[in-house]
Amino acid sequence: MKVHLSILCICLLMCACQSELQSDRTAKPKQAAQEKADYAIVIHGGAGTILKKNMTAQREQEYLAKLNEALDAGETILQEGGDAADAVVAAIHLMEDSPLFNAGKGAVFSNQGKNELDASIMRGSDQNAGAVGGITNVKHPISAARAVLENSDHVLLTGAGAELFARDAGLEIVDPSYFYTERRWNSLQRILEEEKTKKKEIAELSENKLGTVGCVALDKAGNIVAGTSTGGMTNKRYGRFGDVPIIGAGTYADNATCGVSCTGHGEYFIRYAVAHDVSARMAYLDEGIEEAADHVVNTKLVEKKGSGGLIAIDQYGNVAMPFNSAGMYRGYAKPGERVVKIYED
Ligand code: ASP
Repeated sequence: MKVHLSILCICLLMCACQSELQSDRTAKPKQAAQEKADYAIVIHGGAGTILKKNMTAQREQEYLAKLNEALDAGETILQEGGDAADAVVAAIHLMEDSPLFNAGKGAVFSNQGKNELDASIMRGSDQNAGAVGGITNVKHPISAARAVLENSDHVLLTGAGAELFARDAGLEIVDPSYFYTERRWNSLQRILEEEKTKKKEIAELSENKLGTVGCVALDKAGNIVAGTSTGGMTNKRYGRFGDVPIIGAGTYADNATCGVSCTGHGEYFIRYAVAHDVSARMAYLDEGIEEAADHVVNTKLVEKKGSGGLIAIDQYGNVAMPFNSAGMYRGYAKPGERVVKIYED
């Protein structure tokens, strides 16, 4: 009798679980299929305490012009049916060449007065990825990351080894002094001074400390690629890497969900696997890209006190650009549509 009762209980429990699972499934229907945009591209030039009151009209114009130029470079490739990876690299090269952004020329200085550059790129079609960390003499770090993806068995190469690899791959090598800019040098001196006078937290997330660049593109073939490039954070020490060279933290791409490139206080983006988290919410919770990206940036990161933002594109070309800092240099382009912004709306 006891045995029969136990079997009955187990059966009832299994039925309850089954119907719970079913109601859970029906409660969250799959995102309805949508028409795919022909192509889409989104870029960022860093998030942080970017306030209109601290910006001259001329500087603002310089930023908007460079963001538009970067979008143009990527969009032209996509319009002509080119590869999303080519579009991402073209857009990022423009920003790496500009002293306005904390990537390539214009990268911030480490505590030891060096420019140590990180970059990564990921392909959503096969989820192959490449990244470099702490390189000092490669003109375009994003190209080094792409070379790791395309010409090596590895995902992340760092320091002298990564530099040797980039040289062997035929990439443009420069003297480390190429990356010097007076503006970034002065930022380091200011922060070092503030450290001495214990005003560290004031400088912690100022615009001068951040300013990474990134790009995500969806090409006509439906492939998503995401890339990110940075000098890291001003005054970084001890060979520190932020989120940028860490796949899943600063960069992620999966054709089935989305591509993501992040900017902000890298340690938080690593700890909460931010770029992957957006994709995971879409895959496991059936959230749309805006909902997923917004939750990660404006709920999760805010709760954890992680400042920054991200850009993302889904398989249909929908774009999200949330940030929880004062501003984020950002913009996107799709057929017949172009948006470029700096501050909150
Ligand atoms: N995420 C970058 C880092 O922590 C900084 C930035 O986005 O500006 O290295």
